[in-house]
Amino acid sequence: MAEKEGFYQRVVRNNNRKKIFRLIRKRRMITKLEISQILGLSITTVSSNIKELIRKGFIKESGYGESTGGRKAQLLEYLPDSRYSIGLELKENHGRVILADLDCNIIKEKVYTDLDLSNLVKCTIRILNSFIEEVNAGDKLLGIGISLPGTVDVEKSILESAPNMGIKRADLSKLRLAFGVPVFMDNEANCSAYGEYEFMELEDQPLFFISVTEGIGGAIIVDKKLYNGKNHRAGEIGHITINFEGENCSCGNKGCWERYASVRALERMISRKGLTEFSGLDEIFSAYSKNDAMKKIIDEYAANISYGIRNLLMIFDPSIIIIGGEICRYENQLLPEIKRNVFQNNDFYVETDVDIVFSVLKENSGIIGAVLFVIDNI
Ligand SMILES: [Zn+2]
Repeated sequence: MAEKEGFYQRVVRNNNRKKIFRLIRKRRMITKLEISQILGLSITTVSSNIKELIRKGFIKESGYGESTGGRKAQLLEYLPDSRYSIGLELKENHGRVILADLDCNIIKEKVYTDLDLSNLVKCTIRILNSFIEEVNAGDKLLGIGISLPGTVDVEKSILESAPNMGIKRADLSKLRLAFGVPVFMDNEANCSAYGEYEFMELEDQPLFFISVTEGIGGAIIVDKKLYNGKNHRAGEIGHITINFEGENCSCGNKGCWERYASVRALERMISRKGLTEFSGLDEIFSAYSKNDAMKKIIDEYAANISYGIRNLLMIFDPSIIIIGGEICRYENQLLPEIKRNVFQNNDFYVETDVDIVFSVLKENSGIIGAVLFVIDNI
């Protein structure tokens, strides 16, 4: 039968299995009849996919549910620890690696600071092999997801540009075959957007994820998929011009949004006002309620963030904008002022038109998103 199955049948079968697996993951315990009713699939299709999922150990038969008149229905139980995935988050000065179960619970975590960026492939293989040996997940290892700090050509596995790492066009395709399990990679903002999208169970609402760190990155999910654009640069919103006579940006342009709304920009605003006694974001944001000068700077910074958001609303009209990155922990100090500036004097948008929220996964959104690429693509 397998030889005769054409491409179309194979795609349909894989999609059905994916839908069934995702439903069981969401519901934890469910019967075949419920799956068939919820997904609108025939009992025969559900049964054959369930058989395969049981054979592979992702789920098991587990007792019986309420009777609906006839025989009691067999319950199927989701087994989150039946497989593990590895997530790697590469940054300019460290690599963070996690082992996660199918629910994305972090089982083990390690940070490697001895990166040799002159040979990224070799360095990544070394880190991952050392972690794989340590966790010893054997056959239970499903795959590896990698979050990269730059623009990525996902099809060719090329890290095209990572200015903070001083990297231009690093070919990472050798990583695909280096570990005996599937390897997925994408840029940090895309990984984060995907992580948030899955955790918030957003279905088909268009989403824009903004990552505010040293610079500003972004990612777009539309029709349940990441949208990368023709040149893999869609969502690179840090370099939209918000002030055409403004400050010089590292990209060569003037007045880019990230010159005013990145974490570096906030630090510059603080040092210009001479508030040098505060260092680190925790100290800066905890001064918000105690220090009037700091409150003023942070409010101005929140307004700077809102200018870019107003632009992207007009271009993209998303259902939800998620703000993540290094500022993700300071929602209380930033979000009210961001929203006030986005919606005041705005003829096009009122607050009920779009949700503007902070990341739910916080600093784990990129690495969990990388893990979810593995889980959702197997
Ligand atoms: Zn720029």
